[in-house]
Amino acid sequence: MRKVSIFGATGSIGQNTIDLIARDPDAYDVVALTGGANIAQLAVDARRLGADLAVTAYEDRLDELRAALDRSGVEVAAGQAALTEAASRPADWVMSAIVGAAGLAPGLEALEQGATLALANKETLVCAGRLVLETAEAHGARLLPVDSEHSAVFQALVGEEIAAVERIVITASGGAFRDWPLEDLANATVEQASCHPNWNMGQRITIDSASMFNKALEVIETREYFGVSPEQIEVLVHPESMVHALVGFRDGALMAHLGAPDMRHAIGYALHWPDRRDLPVERLDLAQLGQLHFRAPDEARYPALSLARQVMARGGLAGAVFNAAKERALDLFIARKAGFLDMVAIVETVLDRFEGSSGLLDATMTLDNVSETDHLARKWADDAMIKRAG
Ligand code: NDP
Repeated sequence: MRKVSIFGATGSIGQNTIDLIARDPDAYDVVALTGGANIAQLAVDARRLGADLAVTAYEDRLDELRAALDRSGVEVAAGQAALTEAASRPADWVMSAIVGAAGLAPGLEALEQGATLALANKETLVCAGRLVLETAEAHGARLLPVDSEHSAVFQALVGEEIAAVERIVITASGGAFRDWPLEDLANATVEQASCHPNWNMGQRITIDSASMFNKALEVIETREYFGVSPEQIEVLVHPESMVHALVGFRDGALMAHLGAPDMRHAIGYALHWPDRRDLPVERLDLAQLGQLHFRAPDEARYPALSLARQVMARGGLAGAVFNAAKERALDLFIARKAGFLDMVAIVETVLDRFEGSSGLLDATMTLDNVSETDHLARKWADDAMIKRAG
């Protein structure tokens, strides 16, 4: 039996992962499941899958989790340190599906144990790409992409040399506001930004799709994971979300990966890699679809994309700053303290402030330095919002 752990088990990716694992219960021994505020779901799944351990990120929810798992035989724990401890428990395959920078520490710990880390949490590579890749290499651990675009590129590269790659094209649906008049974006609400045209995902990534911060993170993730130069990465708006990515080779060939917008494809590929197994996903009927559409992204509509280019050019801890400022700006938007367009302005202001503070972005990339940078960037995001509001 394969020992597996799922971090962020109660979320959209976590539940899709559980859906696949629960279809073949004799094949998996579930070590740890983790969640945040959704204690009821965590407890149901921990019982159903017979997990050894269930962890909530919130210490003040421990009693509730303990009560929900009373007489189940499942060990319970809470808090950030408990999440990292859960990641230190031996597992063959670990799903990293916590949302945000909170996924970094458990992911690093799992790599230190030599586990195969299925990476949905793109923030891990954006905040600390070099540290993560070096940790994986030092411990003989494998990192498998779960983001649909990166899984698609990974699949298109099977049997190919990265040196033969000319460009990588990742697609974007364009999010909730792709056809809105630009002048309306300033007044876009949280509810409007939370409706994705094609994918059913957690609220944060859905809003990040509307602003293209999600795609900006994915461009940086592409650079870190595949080691190509920023100039080799392109973004293409593709409203149907059927083509997930394309890899262009030096001979002009372009390999596209197509599939229905269902995350169980990318999760299942990472779960069964290097094999391919049957997956319960829709099969595309291209004749019925008839046509697919593509267009270049409008930089005026999606300024987050040029910020991603700035971050890649800067290097160092700029990715950690970008992600943390983005996370805080998103918190403020969801709390109705910032408008939709304030988010990009806040992130830009924080990046500029770090750039102007000599040495901060060039500190050594350790987990402690990334965490400190993350905290400061969140604080400076609040400062930037206060200044805008005042
Ligand atoms: P969700 O918001 O649906 O789920 C997030 C998970 O993380 C939940 O289990 C949540 O617990 C938990 N969580 C929230 N805050 C914390 C914290 N501070 N510490 C520990 N755990 C926490 O997110 P998604 O599943 O949509 O996304 C997860 C990750 O995967 C993100 O990095 C996202 O960018 C990436 N991704 C998602 C895709 C998708 O289709 N959803 C596609 C590709 C990538 P609880 O709900 O119990 O509070």
